[in-house]
Formats: sequence, C-alpha cells, structure tokens
Amino acid sequence: MSKNEPRAHDRSHRDRQIDEVGHDPYHARSKPAEPAVCPQCGLIYHKGRWQRAARPEKANEYVCPACHRANDRNPAGYITLTGPYLGAHGEELRRLIKNEQERVAESHPLQRIMQIEDENGKLIVTTTDVHLARRIGDALHAAFQGELSVKYSPDEFLVRVNWTR
Ligand SMILES: [Zn+2]
Repeated sequence: MSKNEPRAHDRSHRDRQIDEVGHDPYHARSKPAEPAVCPQCGLIYHKGRWQRAARPEKANEYVCPACHRANDRNPAGYITLTGPYLGAHGEELRRLIKNEQERVAESHPLQRIMQIEDENGKLIVTTTDVHLARRIGDALHAAFQGELSVKYSPDEFLVRVNWTR
C-alpha cells in the first residue's frame, strides 16, 4: 500500500466504478489557504476538507466546489426518471429524492441536489456529486422497484442514472 493510498476508512465509502471515473476536477482545483469560508453556503475549509463548522475569525473567502459547480451549471450527476408511474407518484418520488440528500447533508455537505425539473413528462434531477446521484438511483430502485441503469462517463467525473417504471 503506497503512501498516497486513501485510508481504509475512506475507501470503504467508495464504489469501485467511481474510482475508475477518477476524481472530481472541482475538488482538485479547490485547495484554498486555510481556514477558508465559502461566501455562498458558509462551509468552512479546514484540514483539507470542506465541512460545517463555526466560522473562524480570519477566514479567506473561497467558493466551495459544490457552489462552483452550481454557478457553472455543470452537474456531476444526472438522474432521469421516466415512465407512467411518475404521473400519479411525482410527489412521493420527489420526497424520496430530497430525503436522500438530507441523509448525507451532515456527513457530505458537498453532495447536493442542484435542480429537480419536470421536462416533457420526465423528472430530471441534477447533483453536484456522482455519489449522491448513484445513491438516489439506488434508493428509488429499493423503494419503488422499476428499472435502474447507471452509466459512468469514463472521461469526466460524471454519472447518468436512469430510472423508469
Ligand atoms: Zn459553497
């Protein structure tokens, strides 16, 4: 095991396919001098990690990767929901999607839903992170069955999740 290998604890949260996708370029670019605060969402960058914390007295202002993606309108995850089930169950589906984000909000504050939009009878959800998109897809499948497909883009940090019922 090389020095650069992530700790076992960190690795256990990762999915092998996601390792193959590589690392989020927005994270790689986001190495501000510490401590830093995101002027948009108030997260604090401390010990190499964006986290919820009290604002330090002297903090550099620096836009966090999640807000940066939102500003660029450049999602890392797309979840597309289709099929007749959507018509009568749109509210339940939206609720489940929001619940999944709330579950990770504390431990992974950079994993956010950007938008949930109706588009010609489809529901399209965009996220700031591939892990959250995958998680939402798995939750939809577990709660409502249907058909799930997950495609990682090999060249970019991007996942497309399709769910239909
Ligand atoms: Zn932010």
